[in-house]
Amino acid sequence: MNKLKMKNLNFPMLGKKTNNNRLVYLDNASTTFKHAYVIEAERKYETEYSANIHRGIYFISEKATREYEEVRSKVKHFINAKKETEIIFTSGSTGSLNLIAYSYGRTFLKKNDEIWISSLEHHSNIIPWQIICSEIGCKLRIIPINKDHTVKKIPFGKQAKLLAITCISNAIGVANPIRNWIKQAKERNIKVVLDAAQAVPHFKMDVQELDCDFLVFSGHKIYGPTGVGILYGKEKLLETMVPYQTGGDMVKEVTFQKTIYADLPAKFEAGTPNISGVIGFGAAIDFVNKIKFQPIAQNTIFQKAKEKLIQIGAKIVGEEFGKIQVPILSFTLQNIHPHDIATILDQKGIAVRAGHLCAQPLLNLLNVPALTRVSLGEYNTDNDIDSLIDGIKFVKKVLKC
Ligand SMILES: *Cc1c(COP(=O)(O)O)cnc(C)c1O
Repeated sequence: MNKLKMKNLNFPMLGKKTNNNRLVYLDNASTTFKHAYVIEAERKYETEYSANIHRGIYFISEKATREYEEVRSKVKHFINAKKETEIIFTSGSTGSLNLIAYSYGRTFLKKNDEIWISSLEHHSNIIPWQIICSEIGCKLRIIPINKDHTVKKIPFGKQAKLLAITCISNAIGVANPIRNWIKQAKERNIKVVLDAAQAVPHFKMDVQELDCDFLVFSGHKIYGPTGVGILYGKEKLLETMVPYQTGGDMVKEVTFQKTIYADLPAKFEAGTPNISGVIGFGAAIDFVNKIKFQPIAQNTIFQKAKEKLIQIGAKIVGEEFGKIQVPILSFTLQNIHPHDIATILDQKGIAVRAGHLCAQPLLNLLNVPALTRVSLGEYNTDNDIDSLIDGIKFVKKVLKC
């Protein structure tokens, strides 16, 4: 836990029981608990000014519109975008990446254009590009890794158009060298998409300083609601891109013959959005703004977890790809199947992730079929790590390993 005052660590899910044990939640890379601010903000919308936005000429609708648009402005400051119009609300990182793939793809990509991704991608930054490639005839290229898992120079071809990379792997907590890669891309006028879903909970992201063209993240990984996410895009690009979805709230004028689309950001927000979710997301940003991010080396709880896991025979996976940068520890334990580990830990009230972690191509590279993943949030304590280690001792006892 960082220096945040205890009273700010107000998460109703903390202290809950599961299977007659204190719930020890160690799956924060999957989703985080919602802060009480978030729940309260959503409750207020639902109970005090529940109305649609951008439509009604009456008080509660105007208030809902104001609150919703204020979150856009918060997000703008949060990632240091130039303008509110560069912030699009989506359903999450997945929604944002699909939007970019289809909209950017249909607007700009041609046969044989290259789209480059890294080995560390989440499935949501692989599959949309595969579909665009099969529809348009583009080529999906994977940044090759050297024997020591480094990449000095990306071998972009003449028709390289897009570099779509994750900042940090959700499976192994390792970072891609994004600054270096962005520089290489910019030298060739290649557009850059950053998947910041695992970066935003732990680092200040500044889109102007990074000079990325797009950046995506999710609300539920920063203590906010599920089903809300952000697409940041440079205004010039978003302005020229065709809409992804169409319908209400994204038009200026519609006849049966043709439609004139609304200006940004409405052009990319067709239909009634997740209004309460967006308002709750604003409260989550208020909370994250109060967190003093600390380098992983100074995160004593993470370091303790890592040490103790190794002591007990766990093999931390993925460090050949670089140093772990966020509190994510994926491991194998002798030849016990991760699903068995997670199932037995659950009996003790301990929640961890097990499986392919939405990163099957990376797991293939690592030569493991499945992993057990422990990932920490702001509220995890020393005690949680003790429970985890006791839990793993119990797993070994049950399975007689
Ligand atoms: C969680 C995650 C996603 C997908 O986010 P959703 O909120 O499920 O849409 C994409 N990329 C990374 C790196 C993630 O961790």
